[in-house]
Amino acid sequence: MRSWPTDPPSPLWTALSRERFRGEALRGDLEADVVVVGGGLSGLAAAIELARRGHRTVLLEAATIGAGASGRANGQVIAALTRHGPNAIRALWPGERGERFLAMVAGAADVLFELVDRYGIDCDARRNGWLQPAHSPGRLRRVAGLAEQWAALGAPTGVLSAGEMSRRLGTFVYVGGWEHRGGGHINPFAFTQGLARAAGQEGVSVFEKSPALSLKRDRDCWLVATPAGSVRAPRVALATAAYTGDLWPEIRRTIVPVTSYQAATDPLGSLAERILPGDEAASDTRMDLRYLRKDREGRLVSGGALALQVSASHRLPRLVGQRLHEMFPDLPPDPMRSFWGGRIAMTVDRLPRLFRRSDGLSAWIGCNGRGLALGCAMGPVMADAVEGVADDRLALRPTDPHAVPIHPVAIRTARFILPWYRFKDRREV
Ligand SMILES: Cc1cc2nc3c(=O)[nH]c(=O)nc-3n(C[C@H](O)[C@H](O)[C@H](O)COP(=O)(O)OP(=O)(O)OC[C@H]3O[C@@H](n4cnc5c(N)ncnc54)[C@H](O)[C@@H]3O)c2cc1C
Repeated sequence: MRSWPTDPPSPLWTALSRERFRGEALRGDLEADVVVVGGGLSGLAAAIELARRGHRTVLLEAATIGAGASGRANGQVIAALTRHGPNAIRALWPGERGERFLAMVAGAADVLFELVDRYGIDCDARRNGWLQPAHSPGRLRRVAGLAEQWAALGAPTGVLSAGEMSRRLGTFVYVGGWEHRGGGHINPFAFTQGLARAAGQEGVSVFEKSPALSLKRDRDCWLVATPAGSVRAPRVALATAAYTGDLWPEIRRTIVPVTSYQAATDPLGSLAERILPGDEAASDTRMDLRYLRKDREGRLVSGGALALQVSASHRLPRLVGQRLHEMFPDLPPDPMRSFWGGRIAMTVDRLPRLFRRSDGLSAWIGCNGRGLALGCAMGPVMADAVEGVADDRLALRPTDPHAVPIHPVAIRTARFILPWYRFKDRREV
């Protein structure tokens, strides 16, 4: 089953990117220590780490580098989970298991920005913080608790009053919120291109237009076949996220791929100075999330999801434009210009998964919409998993791949939960 993206990634981020990686397609047969499948930031972060630890590493990307979610994201660098705060993780995974995982999440944005610095990646990285404005007093109480819990782990967080949040955003529609000063934003396509360049520098053989078509056991190795070649290696790591196909069929059934759309305004000139004047990234507390950031030329970049996908390229920019106009009345009523979309791997409990088999196959999946920092932090964890580090010493404990209940129905109907989310958001306000 063909599962990888066929359309180019975001028109905005590709046009703004000064990093541009070009890889050959694999022709012929190779041998390696590890094959990484998937040329998004997760696969690249894992491949870089493996190469730095001395493994001969081949990375196969089906389309082009960053063609998946990594080149299509909004670009917010967030070192916190979608749903769970530290206390919830500790309740779920008491002791060492929870603490190791929390330490990884708390340090995830550091890992991303360290990669930017180490390889001089030209991706308009801004580490001015991440804001989560609260849309209701109940949500404010909850996120104030989260800010405290992450602060106890050493994260630079703080609670913001309604007045302070208004000043930071340039709108009065929120009742306060919290900030994580370790977050920020990047051009995610440029970042991923830069990672591919860095992987090459570290000795990884990076191939584009080289889909892994099959995985077969060949004596004590895996044989990974592509249209014009193959790689033989004892270990394989999958980082195919929401574009996962049937290479390891059980993995595909552990997630629901959800389409998320993005839209951007034209450059806003002096108006851009009044919106997010400190150039942070922001995502609010709604279940049908509202979020925004600026690019380096003063465009607003935002996005959302739709229950019905028909005419998405017209309906989504209009919806996002209306929402932004409500927040910033000086914007024109229909301000969005460029449009694109991508797929996010969602798990039922909104937690990521690591899978590992005794025959050398491993995978991580389930970014739940916050995978830029997490995917980078999972690079060393994937390298540990490939190297055989014991389960209880991995930052994310491997589990068995349990399928999402009624998976074929869930993947067709997941988006119809959106009207319910919107109803709940409105009721809270
Ligand atoms: C619209 C959108 C907005 C988002 N915004 C944010 C945000 O602001 N902040 C944030 O933290 N996260 C965000 N995310 C999530 C984030 O983009 C992802 O979590 C992250 O990019 C996942 O990276 P990845 O490398 O795991 O997967 P991907 O980037 O999806 O890469 C998977 C790759 O695997 C390749 N592949 C699939 N099958 C094969 C095969 N058989 N052989 C070879 N290659 C294969 C695909 O072609 C693809 O390139 C967003 C996602 C979307 C879609």
